[in-house]
Amino acid sequence: TQQAIRFAFDNSYRRLPDHFHARIRPTPVTAPGLIKLNAALFEELGLDPSASEPRVAAPLFAGNLLPDGGDPIAMAYAGHQFGNFVPQLGDGRAILIGEVLDRAGQRRDIQLKGSGQTPFSRSGDGRAALGPVLREYILAEAMHALGIPTTRALAAVTTGEPVYRETILPGAILTRVASSHIRIGTFQYFTSRGDTEAVQHLADHVIARHYPEVAGADSPYLALIEAVLERQAVLIAAWMRVGFIHGVMNTDNMAISGETIDYGPCAFMDAYDPATVFSSIDRGGRYAYGNQPGIAQWNLARFAETLLPLIDGASDAVIQQATDLIRGFFGRYEEHWTAGMRRKLGLATAEPEDIDLIHGLLDAMKASGADFTLTFRRLCDTAADPQANSGVRDLFIDRQTYDAWAAQWQARLERDPQTPAERAARMRDTNPAVIPRNHRVEQALHAAVENDFGPFEAILRVLERPYEDRPEVAGYTEPPQDEERVLKTFCGT
Ligand code: AMP
Ligand code: MG
Ligand code: MG
Repeated sequence: TQQAIRFAFDNSYRRLPDHFHARIRPTPVTAPGLIKLNAALFEELGLDPSASEPRVAAPLFAGNLLPDGGDPIAMAYAGHQFGNFVPQLGDGRAILIGEVLDRAGQRRDIQLKGSGQTPFSRSGDGRAALGPVLREYILAEAMHALGIPTTRALAAVTTGEPVYRETILPGAILTRVASSHIRIGTFQYFTSRGDTEAVQHLADHVIARHYPEVAGADSPYLALIEAVLERQAVLIAAWMRVGFIHGVMNTDNMAISGETIDYGPCAFMDAYDPATVFSSIDRGGRYAYGNQPGIAQWNLARFAETLLPLIDGASDAVIQQATDLIRGFFGRYEEHWTAGMRRKLGLATAEPEDIDLIHGLLDAMKASGADFTLTFRRLCDTAADPQANSGVRDLFIDRQTYDAWAAQWQARLERDPQTPAERAARMRDTNPAVIPRNHRVEQALHAAVENDFGPFEAILRVLERPYEDRPEVAGYTEPPQDEERVLKTFCGT
């Protein structure tokens, strides 16, 4: 018999009307095995310490053992997938165990992903394979360490059961923590059913939970559109700053909170090229690196549409205001992006010509296929000492173009009030030394499938402090050799 585990749940989403979710328990698995528990996050959440003992954590995070006070649900949602509207998706293989208030008083969802079928599973088995579970664990924690808003990974367990995909794979479950799992698609679910009352209920829940500052606005729902848009502008600019490609920016994979969610075929870019796509299912390149701001804007327009009926009966004036907000997304995004790029180039001041300087470098990188992460990290060394050989020049096939750009950059730095040492230090705080490079991630996943979790543990340690040059990062900073290159990434199945 197992001891009782108590989590201090406060399940606010469960208290919303019944058609918002389905009550469902995780399906127990044969042989739970703990791969990893995120001790720092566990501590931050203030969970019952006895739950961190492996003999408890394994069945708990496998869904075999439910904490007291849990009332698990699968959430209903819809979404545009590659531009096509699907009126019913929902948590087909995820179950929200409950919400807790963490040590800082923040509300956090605890969700099992891969925990068995739900009423939203359609033909799916409700399960997840080991590789994609560890992939999400690595990527989510890497993004967090990079300082980018994201859902987190609390635990990974094996189920002892096979999952049947193109091949037979070991099954696993990820425990995901999010400030909420409400998506643009959650709003669309009710809108597509003509259920305006539910949309209003959801909007009020979202305002209270994520955007309390808009509650007092003249038009809270318009203010909500603006607030969600602002957080997405910040988020996408942050993705672009580190070369992150989400891969499946469907409206059901965009969280209202502004956190990165649903790590499927996502990847970090090596050689700089805005057309970069890794996802095997993104044949048209809809979700290419350089398209992400435009797609975010498109998704936000779909979000705004769901709220229009709540605002002055969607009068022409309201539609115009909402349209103006959505049009304004690019301006906001570019402001965040430009500020981020100035930091990457070590500029503490702003001059209008900086835009040309930024694009001059990116154009040269693209023409040379220069590695995105290495270029900016090596520029930190060049900023510290322009005479030293940082190796950045070697990343460019066309050295003359690089030299011309570098001369322009040095001239600009002369007009910027920082010492070279200060500048280099600040640049190193925004240009990571290490990112989860696809080929290293794939190696860790392959080893794990062969029951060797050493490389998984090692890459997690390396990615914990991505802005520091530590001995551990050796071997993780370099782009792939030709034979190591990962050409395609696959959906989180
Ligand atoms: P995703 O592509 O992971 O964002 O998922 C799209 C939709 O498919 C969501 O409704 C998922 O819950 C559902 N889904 C994905 N994989 C499975 C699975 N193995 N079993 C049931 N539903 C799934
Ligand atoms: Mg999804
Ligand atoms: Mg998913």
